[in-house]
Amino acid sequence: MSYKAFHERSIKDPDGFWGDQAKLIHWEKPFKKVLEYSNPPFAKWFEGGQTNLCYNAVDRHLADRADQVALVSVSTETNQERAFTFKELYSEVNRMAAILKANGVQKGDRVLIYMPMIAEACFAMLACARIGAIHSVVFGGFASHSLASRIDDAKPKMIITAEAGARGGKAVPYKPLLDEAIELATVKPEKVLLVNRGLTEYTTIQGRDLDYAAERQKHLDDLVPVEWVDSTHISYILYTSGTTGKPKGVQRDTGGYAVALAASMKHIFCGNPGETMFTTSDIGWVVGHSYIIYAPLINGMATIMYEGTPLRPDAGIWWQLVEKYKVSVMFSAPTAIRVLKKQDPAFLTKYDLSSLRALFLAGEPLDEPTASWIHGAINKPVVDNYWQTETGWPMLAIQRGVEVMPHKFGSPGVPSFGYNMKLLDDSTGVELGANEKGVIAIEGPLPPGCMQTVWGDDKRFVSTYWETIPGKLIYSTFDWGIKDDDGYFFILGRTDDVINVAGHRLGTREIEESISSHPNVSEIAVVGIEDKLKGQVAIGFAIPKDAGKVDTLEAELMKTVDTQLGAIARPARVYIVTALPKTRSGKIVRRALQAVAEGRDPGDISTMEDQAVLAQIKTIIEENPVKS
Ligand code: ATP
Ligand code: MG
Repeated sequence: MSYKAFHERSIKDPDGFWGDQAKLIHWEKPFKKVLEYSNPPFAKWFEGGQTNLCYNAVDRHLADRADQVALVSVSTETNQERAFTFKELYSEVNRMAAILKANGVQKGDRVLIYMPMIAEACFAMLACARIGAIHSVVFGGFASHSLASRIDDAKPKMIITAEAGARGGKAVPYKPLLDEAIELATVKPEKVLLVNRGLTEYTTIQGRDLDYAAERQKHLDDLVPVEWVDSTHISYILYTSGTTGKPKGVQRDTGGYAVALAASMKHIFCGNPGETMFTTSDIGWVVGHSYIIYAPLINGMATIMYEGTPLRPDAGIWWQLVEKYKVSVMFSAPTAIRVLKKQDPAFLTKYDLSSLRALFLAGEPLDEPTASWIHGAINKPVVDNYWQTETGWPMLAIQRGVEVMPHKFGSPGVPSFGYNMKLLDDSTGVELGANEKGVIAIEGPLPPGCMQTVWGDDKRFVSTYWETIPGKLIYSTFDWGIKDDDGYFFILGRTDDVINVAGHRLGTREIEESISSHPNVSEIAVVGIEDKLKGQVAIGFAIPKDAGKVDTLEAELMKTVDTQLGAIARPARVYIVTALPKTRSGKIVRRALQAVAEGRDPGDISTMEDQAVLAQIKTIIEENPVKS
């Protein structure tokens, strides 16, 4: 079938289309209605149906693939590699579910998971799903303050953790941060279940803290029946990365999510049961929820959980794993590829990558030099895909399982099935045609798998996402983009990052693309700052590839922009820096750069990886102010 017909049917006949896709998963009780949308923007998918995420990810495969590997947990930090077949995964999940039940966790209760990338984190997520508990996974790198606010928001009955994670050869203690967070939080969990990895010493709080190994021993042979839940039952809460401000608690359903993930595996990721998927993200992010845990397992594939950096023991480690586990589908992020790009390219040709069919990249703009480099190095399709924590699965992608359409560098492709994507003028709400810049929006209903609401705050869901375009109830992505004559979308930056220079609106991404075409630029961020004359001007922050050759770099970069985009887009300054402020998921925090450049307070930067980077940049700006 052609992409066009496939997509058109998904929009014009959602009942027929999604009714078909729903056959990809197991329903314990069939649904009565595919879509219930009488109260927009709240969509209910597969109403009346009952299913279970854990059953679909694990139990369902026992008949055909009990002895096939389901989960490989690799740590290059502790030098451990553990593999679990579907049967073994089933046993571990049952043990974990039994521990939860024995400690009073019931359907609808929240369980907060604050864990490194170890197999027990996967058991914990699936065990919650098994008993109908709602998990809230909090990225293991967050400090006590961020953790405390998530504890207060979700009010978990239990927290599952480990005493430490590890990064770059060093143990990163979790337990003291968790103790501090619980101290700070107003709502206290009853129990803390801790996986002791033997990495660091820690203190135990009697009556509250449970040792996982000891608890597991008590429930070795327990089997916990699957709790069949309504399709609309909440499966989890997950916070957005906080790149643009205070993180939002995204709430997701069960049945719609399972169907959307299964459909995405078939039509976008093209993974087959029995194969292996390797997603290099973290379970603390949406990519980890969807494509490390649920989607590959629902699809009967083995999945790899990886703890460590892409560079240890050397820059070939990921490709070594591809060879060893015959990975067919790999999913990573542009930021990780840029890290590899600085290494010897020989690492990419050293291993047998013949099992690999495609590399998927998402999370931030995939710049042309990075895309070409990785494509050239591995000689496989590189599939940029665009989505958000809110949507749970790609909104834009070349859907290779439907039709292998050509890739265009700089574009994540065309709208995924189920997504009625529009480009709108953000001040008038008018729909724009080809080659006009506007805000990317989705006409409701959001397809299955997308957020149901903001956890505990329906009003915030409506006002934050659906009421920003004048005169329309429409979901805003807060991303700025453009569509070409073939219907391919290009992301030009966040709506917050659009610069208005003397009446011309420019996405910071456009200027970044231009600057990154210079051979001595390894990374670049552009922001707009206030300017008395022009309204706004662009300011760049560039990390050079060769720090020894930067004397004339600023002038060269300005010239590059002049030639490619015109003088109007030329940044007032391009600061040469050694690092950029990033969230822990690796995204550049442009709003913080902008605040510092305008001499303002950067606001909530709790999800930022290394706060010293911003302080350094502040000093550089103070010593070399923007000339106006
Ligand atoms: P917050 O909403 O809390 O500010 P965030 O938007 O960074 O955080 P995520 O949901 O992790 O949180 O990121 C989604 C955003 O990432 C998208 O809205 C878009 O700006 C960007 N993004 C994701 N994939 C791509 C892509 N392939 N190309 C360009 N941008 C992308
Ligand atoms: Mg966002």
